[in-house]
Amino acid sequence: MGFVKTHDIGDITASLVGSEITVGGWIEDLRKMGKMTFITLRDVSGISQIIVKGDLNESLGELNRQSVISIRGLVQETKARDFAFEVKALEIDILAKAIHPLPVDPIGRIESNIDTRLNHRALDMRNQKTASIFKIRHHVLQSLRSILTEKKFIEITTPKIIGSASEGGANLFSLEYFGKTAYLAQSPQLYKEQMTIGLERVFEISNFYRAEKSHTGRHLSEFTSVDIEAAFMDYNDVMNILEELIIHTYKDISENCITEQQVIGHTVNIPKSPFEKVTYSQCVEELNEAGEKIEFGDDLLDSHLRLLGKKHEGFFFLTDWPMKLKPFYIREKDENPELSRSFDLQYGYLELSSGGTRLHNPEILKTRLAEQDLDPLQFADHLQAFDWGMPPHSGWGLGLDRLLTTLVGIDNVREVVLYPRDPDRLKP
Ligand code: ATP
Ligand code: MN
Repeated sequence: MGFVKTHDIGDITASLVGSEITVGGWIEDLRKMGKMTFITLRDVSGISQIIVKGDLNESLGELNRQSVISIRGLVQETKARDFAFEVKALEIDILAKAIHPLPVDPIGRIESNIDTRLNHRALDMRNQKTASIFKIRHHVLQSLRSILTEKKFIEITTPKIIGSASEGGANLFSLEYFGKTAYLAQSPQLYKEQMTIGLERVFEISNFYRAEKSHTGRHLSEFTSVDIEAAFMDYNDVMNILEELIIHTYKDISENCITEQQVIGHTVNIPKSPFEKVTYSQCVEELNEAGEKIEFGDDLLDSHLRLLGKKHEGFFFLTDWPMKLKPFYIREKDENPELSRSFDLQYGYLELSSGGTRLHNPEILKTRLAEQDLDPLQFADHLQAFDWGMPPHSGWGLGLDRLLTTLVGIDNVREVVLYPRDPDRLKP
């Protein structure tokens, strides 16, 4: 009979009753009752009951759960409570055997800790909760691509192996590159800015690399970033795009991933719009009122963000940071050059995105590089584009993995990344 399916289990509907189909999947349960065998079979789309009469396949009884079989059979109505239909087997092929016991229980009856699950990630993916997280991740990527395309952004792919540190040296991984030192890109920042001179509005969804020594639920050494850069836009414009994108994605998942939400046990609530905008200076005031000793110009520590996150729940923009806390490419405010046209998007204490209006004047950019102890010569390749007609532009980078944790209501990016990389985890 072979291994080709005619249907996914989830596609079995009333119109198929009486028809012959071939399905395949993993045995979740197998019970013998007299001359009958009842199999619960799962594939990526759903679960079905298979009825086997007599000795259709001699070795069926010896199979461990999670072995792979395919069945040619007739679709029929069922009396079983948990199923809408069942398949009466006419022929069964055993395609692959699973060992017993398995290192993690894919049904989730026996809970494994996250490390054990990550060490056996492919098997963990047969756990419906894990699978649902990654189905949602897929939908989020689709959703982001569709709205950005609708807004006339062009998807680009920038290099991940680069010859010089793009935003200063810290947190960079280096590697040997044909006798030279190369680095893994931390962000597409410089390339995406350059692309605005020809493509105007660009976006990228790619992995980037940071040698983060931190052990938190929100930092990985390899993470997925959603980046946009747009010519002729100010930071308020790209904040609006970011807000629209978040609302659109939340709405999409809330409406189109119903089963996944049920399996995970978390309901996606569409956030209220417009998102609150709080300036950095306002935050400093609020923190001092709360008893923290913090002055204008101090960076916000984790403890500060946790306090602010309690006061401003859910999504809010933290805007107008001091220039001295921002990277060299961020532009100042005309009315107060100590302040920048910049923002972070927060979800409570969690930073989801950073963005702003960029400097597009090469002379000012060179001055800023020097002020931040960076060598303009190191940025020659980048700076040359600024002499070719660089439009004013703005953009942001959004952590996809962090966004997903807000959607599925789980507080650790490792849960939403297939094979997370952190200082202690390089394998599998
Ligand atoms: P943090 O202060 O939380 O370490 P950051 O300010 O260094 O983040 P940015 O350079 O602003 O990060 O990067 C833009 C976005 O990319 C962040 O807001 C975050 O969502 C995501 N991001 C950055 N670093 C990581 C990381 N190591 N792991 C996962 N996501 C990250
Ligand atoms: Mn940031």
